[in-house]
Amino acid sequence: MLKQKKEKKQDLRQNFHIKKDDLVEVNTGEEKGRRGRVLQTLSAKQQVIIEGINLVKKHQRARSQTKPSGIVTVPAPIHMSNVVLICAKCGKKTTVRRERIEKKRVRICKKCGEIIE
Ligand SMILES: [Zn+2]
Repeated sequence: MLKQKKEKKQDLRQNFHIKKDDLVEVNTGEEKGRRGRVLQTLSAKQQVIIEGINLVKKHQRARSQTKPSGIVTVPAPIHMSNVVLICAKCGKKTTVRRERIEKKRVRICKKCGEIIE
């Protein structure tokens, strides 16, 4: 009997469902329930940087007269499994399935069935 190993690999790819500019909600930790827009995805680490979420203070050195040294707060990356996608169409926490429509890969909200991108 042949076992289909290829299928498992594909599943892993499908888990990568969050993109830049998506609205997401944190579903774990101190900031559970908070929402923000995805500023950047770090695909290699499966992490995302979300506007206003997981802020860390960083010391910055003076680079010029107009940018004095001091402490700035910047969002630190968090793991993708700790966030859920918010559907832009129905506003609910959702998961997506991928479909190919007219040769384009699209994501479809499982809650309302609308195309998300
Ligand atoms: Zn939806």
